[in-house]
Amino acid sequence: MRPVIVTPMFSLHGTPIGGGIVIGRARVLEPNRLDAERIRLHVDQVEPEVLRLIAAQAAVREELAVISAHLPADAPHEAEALLDAHRMILDDPLLGEEAIRMIREQTVNAEWALANRAGLLAEQFEEFEDAYLRERGQDVRQIAARVLKALSGSTTHPLGSGDPAIIIANDIAPADMLMLKRALGFGIDLGGTTSHTAILARSMNVPAVVGLRCAAELIQDDDWLILDGEAGVLYVAPDETLLAEFRHRQAADQLERERLKRLLHVPARTLDGVPVTLQANIELPDESRQAFEAGAAGIGLFRSEFLFLNRSELPGEDEQYEAYRLAVEGMRGRPVTIRTLDVGADKTLQTDAGSVVATNPALGLRAIRYCLAQPLMFLTQLRAILRAAAHGPVRLLIPMLAHGHEIDHALRLIELARSQLDERGIPRGAHVPVGGMIEVPAAALTASMFARRLDFLSVGTNDLIQYTLAIDRTDHAISSLYDPYHPAVLQLIAMTIRAARRADKPVSVCGELAGDWNATRLLLGMGLTIFSMHSASLLRVKREVLLSDIGQLQPKVARLLGQDEPAKVASALARLRDDGRGETARA
Ligand code: PEP
Ligand code: MG
Repeated sequence: MRPVIVTPMFSLHGTPIGGGIVIGRARVLEPNRLDAERIRLHVDQVEPEVLRLIAAQAAVREELAVISAHLPADAPHEAEALLDAHRMILDDPLLGEEAIRMIREQTVNAEWALANRAGLLAEQFEEFEDAYLRERGQDVRQIAARVLKALSGSTTHPLGSGDPAIIIANDIAPADMLMLKRALGFGIDLGGTTSHTAILARSMNVPAVVGLRCAAELIQDDDWLILDGEAGVLYVAPDETLLAEFRHRQAADQLERERLKRLLHVPARTLDGVPVTLQANIELPDESRQAFEAGAAGIGLFRSEFLFLNRSELPGEDEQYEAYRLAVEGMRGRPVTIRTLDVGADKTLQTDAGSVVATNPALGLRAIRYCLAQPLMFLTQLRAILRAAAHGPVRLLIPMLAHGHEIDHALRLIELARSQLDERGIPRGAHVPVGGMIEVPAAALTASMFARRLDFLSVGTNDLIQYTLAIDRTDHAISSLYDPYHPAVLQLIAMTIRAARRADKPVSVCGELAGDWNATRLLLGMGLTIFSMHSASLLRVKREVLLSDIGQLQPKVARLLGQDEPAKVASALARLRDDGRGETARA
């Protein structure tokens, strides 16, 4: 169909969430506005107004229950947790009871009272330094907007009807996100990489961009859009030339996906015969099944903290054991690397929500530091992991290590967890290798000490880049400075790989760089043979592996690592990536 151009062409840039490219018409969701008209009531109108608010809250409670009861079987696990979080906000006395008090004391309408309370509550959240807590302010706005809608008598679901379209919104409540499978993709103004929206979109693998800032204001219903979830760009009212280019890219992507499927059962081995292990990163236990089907040789990173978020009580030993066991069984004998709790910084436990927020949370009581400060909680997790290891090969991975004494302390607690299980006669895995994440420059610079103490190392490039370049990985304002190819970052990665190989210990990369096929040859040339990434990238990276000759790459990468001039590094990288592209195209 020939597109009708109703808006001059422009583009918006945000944070890419992935999922590919989609072309379609816009469906702009009503913003979650909390502005309401203030109406003074007669005294005899006050109690009916209170009842009206209570009825609207009940209607929203019912709406959430219906959504929860109709969750598709394949809805991500976070969905239920997110609905729970919204139910808690809905029932929070600081919202509902305070709004009722306001109606009575100030004799005002329910809309005004609720919007006021929600605004105040959301602002309190938004003042937190911590990105995760700040984003919870948005949850308050979303639930209040839902009650306001119910007050106006409208409960129609915004995504439940109409032709499939690209959803554009200032924000989308998690409950609405569950309908996303009917949408072609979505572009959202708010949210960073840790927002609920981004977390859900990633696990659903839907084309998405967040942090677009003003898309909902600038885009109109039915505008034609190109949403590039990989580059994080939204083209509005594209002209024929751009549309033709992206249609071509879409078709090429599709063709490529089909071609890549042929590699599913091909062993990952370089041209010069070096076997390469391609593993998957998961956030939730049942994703291990998908990872297995996508051909992952194991789970290189199970971010266990996702079991702990969005809940008022921490998961106990049995609950954790069941979750880890599910992940282990899903991999049918292939190893599962469970990372111990990495909370703090941008991932705060709800149970800690009231505690003092550190000035620099990313440099504060995070990950292993937090676990060592909470030994009972840490021991509970360690016992659960050791128990799950009775069902298949499990490896333990400790995040954010910087000091030798942290390793020693963690190893002592692992030993204690083992003896606690043995004393109780509870079965556990006999051999659970313990590894450390290298994600702090101090750890990379002393990687040989880490390699001596631990069974394996895994480079977390996401944090290594953040801490090396002093760039908050969640901050949009400086995201252009977040450079995985900065010579300092490359040196630290190479140094870690060298140290592990010298100590004859396995080393992997499990940060986003491992899934970036543009970096595959670089990492192979540094001597890396274990990569862990989102399942969706496995085959693309495998193709790079199949077309690479490590013997030829090594001297080129050694020369590249000797460069510190950005332009020279960039051109050496480009040559590395492009060498033999003709062969790639024929493969
Ligand atoms: C990393 O830092 O690279 C990593 C894999 O851990 P996370 O992204 O969970 O911090
Ligand atoms: Mg990390």
